[in-house]
Amino acid sequence: MARDIYETDQNLSHRYVSLARKIGMRHKIPVGGEFCRKCNTVFLLGKTAKKRVGKNKMVCFVCLKCGAVRRKGFGKKG
Ligand SMILES: [Zn+2]
Repeated sequence: MARDIYETDQNLSHRYVSLARKIGMRHKIPVGGEFCRKCNTVFLLGKTAKKRVGKNKMVCFVCLKCGAVRRKGFGKKG
């Protein structure tokens, strides 16, 4: 959802994500995508984020806006 909104209105997307974050604190966000914890940007590969795979196949998303690195997967520490 947030991804679709992002295409039309970036600001709205930010609001949506920040809202989703508040709700998503208890419920895992079903959007199926990651977003930046730091600036709430929805990670769109090639647009707002780039995917990075380490040697151990650890997948990370790097926010192109603030440079924060987000590891793939929710609910797991680290
Ligand atoms: Zn960011």
